[in-house]
Amino acid sequence: MELQTIEDKDYKGKRVFLRVDFNVPLENGEIIDDTRIRAAIPTIEYLLQKGASLVIASHLGRPKGKVDPGLSLKIVARRLGDLIGKEVKFVSDCIGPEVKKAVESLKIGEIILLENLRFHKEEEEGSEDFAKELSSLADCYVNDAFGTCHRKHSSVYGITKFFDNIAAGYLIKKEVSALSKLLENPEKPFLLILGGAKVVDKIGMIKNLLDKIDTLITGGVMAYTFIKAKNWEIGDSKVEMEAVPLAKEIIKEINKRHLEFHTPLDHIIADKISPDARYFATERGTIPHNWIGVDIGPQAIEEYTDCINRAKTIFWNGPMGIYEIDAFAKGTLEIAKAIGKREDAFSVIGGGDSAAAVNKAGVADKISHICTGGGASLEYLEKGTLPGIEVLKK
Ligand code: ADP
Ligand code: MG
Repeated sequence: MELQTIEDKDYKGKRVFLRVDFNVPLENGEIIDDTRIRAAIPTIEYLLQKGASLVIASHLGRPKGKVDPGLSLKIVARRLGDLIGKEVKFVSDCIGPEVKKAVESLKIGEIILLENLRFHKEEEEGSEDFAKELSSLADCYVNDAFGTCHRKHSSVYGITKFFDNIAAGYLIKKEVSALSKLLENPEKPFLLILGGAKVVDKIGMIKNLLDKIDTLITGGVMAYTFIKAKNWEIGDSKVEMEAVPLAKEIIKEINKRHLEFHTPLDHIIADKISPDARYFATERGTIPHNWIGVDIGPQAIEEYTDCINRAKTIFWNGPMGIYEIDAFAKGTLEIAKAIGKREDAFSVIGGGDSAAAVNKAGVADKISHICTGGGASLEYLEKGTLPGIEVLKK
């Protein structure tokens, strides 16, 4: 089955329900990063150019099914309007007679943004009635909210069966093409770099990738969980205890497949997690009593850089250390820079913090693909598809 995309469809004179991910970070009622709004613009402009009018819908934050004025999409409508140099109308709900009236008066080339879908609890429950209500606002359906495709929410999943004309936008198309390239015939050697804090959440993805990769290198809490699984000393380093048995299983699988596998040869250890901590590099891969592993050490950086230099395909998820503190950011930034130098390899970054680290290292434009949806991209790599993507196939 093939993913249907907007390039396959006709939009002339059509009113399109466009589901996007405008879940932007807010601070004191202001948008502090509009990357997600910008990411939807290619699809918006394409649809308008093809003669459509647009009914755009999104969620914002976690209002838990109640109206929360602090999570209104009204400011997003204004920002989108500024970015595309065009009026973006706004309506203060996403269903109901007032919304119906507003969308019915839309002319070709006009845009209206609906209020936060998650002000209705039915959205996250995946209610079919709610999906049907939403679908009654338009003739066609386009989804470009990749970051929500792992959820069976009404506006990404149930809604699709009420339309004949459904398609994925450019953002979903781009994500799917990068992630499926990792899963289907990746050029070898394929290096998987794992770090960060959430270990249990990533086990499914790791298991699925073991059959594709040649090398696995680890940092962060991920590494300490593997080191703990080898029964080595990790001092007071943070570890996910419930993931230790899973890490043991993975080590067995790695050995069965004769994969190259590394935990850090050395570490930066600190007496506390704070910018004014005392810290130094260990000589070995174990961590002494009372000390906390906060970054990979210089020998590990060298070894990992060598792995990166040999790879043809690279997927990186999770920082190598507590990169939010400058003194513990070196490992993460060096890994980012090393990947940035491999413009001849196919490199993909998944995870919000990993993406932030790549930006901090100033190499974002040297990476083949940076995933926009953390949870969605991990689930895609685990299962090879997502519920919200399956329903866009024909
Ligand atoms: P991503 O968002 O890229 O998927 P995660 O959310 O899993 O990554 O992990 C990022 C977090 O992991 C960061 O906040 C970072 O400080 C933390 N982290 C990395 N290494 C360590 C460590 N050694 N000890 C504690 N936290 C760590
Ligand atoms: Mg994170």
